Amino acid sequence: MAKGNINVSVENIFPLIKKFLYSDHEIFLRELISNATDATLKLKHLTQIGESKAEYGNPIIEVKVDKEGKKIHIIDQGLGMTADEVEKYINQIAFSGANEFLEQYKEKVEDSGIIGHFGLGFYSAFMVAEKVELITKSHKDEPAAHWTCDGSPEFTLEAHDKTDRGTEIILHIAEDSLEFLEDHKIGGLLTKYNKFMPVAIKFGTKEETLPLPEGAAEDAKPETITVDNIINNPNPAWTKQPADLKDEDYKGFYRELYPAQFEEPLFNIHLNVDYPFNLTGILYFPKLTNDIASQKDRIQLYQNQVFVTDNVEGIVPEFLTMLRGVIDSPDIPLNVSRSYLQADGNVKKIASYITRKVADKLNSLYKSDREEFEAKWNDVKIVIEYGMLSEPKFFEKADKFALYPTTDGKYLTFEELTTAIQDTQTDKDGKTVVLYTSNKDEQHSYIKAAEDKGYKVVLLDSPIVSHLIQKLETEKENISFARVDGDHIDNLIKKDDEQISKLSDEEKVTLKTALETVVPKEKYTVQLESMASNATPFMITQPEFMRRMKEMQQSGGNGMFGNFPEMYNLIVNSNHSLVSDILNEKDTTKKETLIKQSLDLARLSQGLLTGEELTNFINRSYEMIK
Ligand code: ADP
Ligand code: MG
Repeated sequence: MAKGNINVSVENIFPLIKKFLYSDHEIFLRELISNATDATLKLKHLTQIGESKAEYGNPIIEVKVDKEGKKIHIIDQGLGMTADEVEKYINQIAFSGANEFLEQYKEKVEDSGIIGHFGLGFYSAFMVAEKVELITKSHKDEPAAHWTCDGSPEFTLEAHDKTDRGTEIILHIAEDSLEFLEDHKIGGLLTKYNKFMPVAIKFGTKEETLPLPEGAAEDAKPETITVDNIINNPNPAWTKQPADLKDEDYKGFYRELYPAQFEEPLFNIHLNVDYPFNLTGILYFPKLTNDIASQKDRIQLYQNQVFVTDNVEGIVPEFLTMLRGVIDSPDIPLNVSRSYLQADGNVKKIASYITRKVADKLNSLYKSDREEFEAKWNDVKIVIEYGMLSEPKFFEKADKFALYPTTDGKYLTFEELTTAIQDTQTDKDGKTVVLYTSNKDEQHSYIKAAEDKGYKVVLLDSPIVSHLIQKLETEKENISFARVDGDHIDNLIKKDDEQISKLSDEEKVTLKTALETVVPKEKYTVQLESMASNATPFMITQPEFMRRMKEMQQSGGNGMFGNFPEMYNLIVNSNHSLVSDILNEKDTTKKETLIKQSLDLARLSQGLLTGEELTNFINRSYEMIK
């Protein structure tokens, strides 16, 4: 038996390993299974190129938990190691790897989010074990070796009588890590990290019911047998060629990824590049809601089928983090901090590749089946609008297929929309004005009024609309947006509906003075307009500019614009008979009541009447009708 000291500069490396990776102890299993997988695939390669005479067969990796003995076994049928190789790969290389790792990262413990994302390798076993045994038989014709190490830099290496090819790692679980002896704990880790690894992984057994043989008696009981419980799918959909997959396969894989998800994805994008970087994967567009934050971080990042993380920030462009699916790339450097990652050339290329693929896919859906695309628009628009805002390259492409739903049920591209309205909706500066509503119900009376005038109203209701509008106004020439209840609508050049005023100029002055004595000046600017006699008598609009500034402020703007006062316009239709009644009312109390009531009705329709004022309004209304 050989004894020795592992050549290492940091004497107490094991306590360090434990300390540094405190929150990520669980990755030991991923590391050891990765090694077992590597060993198996290496053997496969050697047999294929004729460098090994071993019978490759149908190798599996087995994980066994021995709760009583406080041990975990990880057994593979890979290429194994000779005693010399154990010396070299375990004592020297693996150890220097671990050592290097610690040297490099002991300064950066705070950045713990990334620590679990790269291999500390074999020695991560010591995060949970007080003693590790390695029994290994090489595929070469040499005796098996038995290595043990109890966490000090001392190890022993002796011969062993193992005859079947492969490696068994035995972890003697430390007192503070006994949780790892629970089946459900190990089972959970295996599904988290190893669900799609390329070599079959067995964890325990399960019962399987056999189908009844043909012509079996009616009362025959089906036979159950005990079979290996294989926890992984070694050939997940993303590793296959798109041509070999049907729509059903993509949906099936989505269910495999998100078993708790009942809703089917709307469509998928198969990623597949091998130059200048390697990347495969499948992204899914789920049905999205307007809540951006809660839908993030569902994309899983893999490296050669080993799960790494579900935080793809910096790798996938921000606006696409609402999608779901898998990205697998060996070319993403994970052993660096996030900010460094974003500066990495490969990672930048990956992000722009993904952006391009998504844009192309959307474009081809739009081109090949517009009806279908329109039907799905509301469920995916948040990603597209967000992307148009944040990625100039994406804007260029998406501008051609982004849709603007109108209140009369059409879905128009921007070009179609502006063509449709350019003759009817122009303002005094000659700009084409896109009228929009952010809430069909709340702004119903305004939409109705605009539609009655023959205007088209676009429905823009995502939370980022104010930003998107600003973007479109800067990108497009001669376009301006106005919300239906905003004051811009007054700037539209009126055509046939230009009305002649029923009131004389003198009467107008009297009316305005009467209104202004009741309506609070600091909140409302009174504006008389000669509209059709059946148009609303009183209507509140908010200066477009002011409302936008406020919205921007709410959606994450800083306080640079200060706090905005609440300012509104009160548009009074001087041709309405109610307004003439107010003008002609002699009783000042009655006159005041009429004005108050009318103002409150206008506020009510804008959703501005709440609290005590609402109560007063209701009481006043009862008084008036009794
Ligand atoms: P890495 O996997 O990055 O090379 P590790 O520390 O995980 O680093 O492993 C060090 C080396 O030990 C491996 O490169 C391999 O040569 C050897 N090794 C580890 N586990 C096994 C195993 N199960 N079968 C054969 N060789 C192994
Ligand atoms: Mg390894």
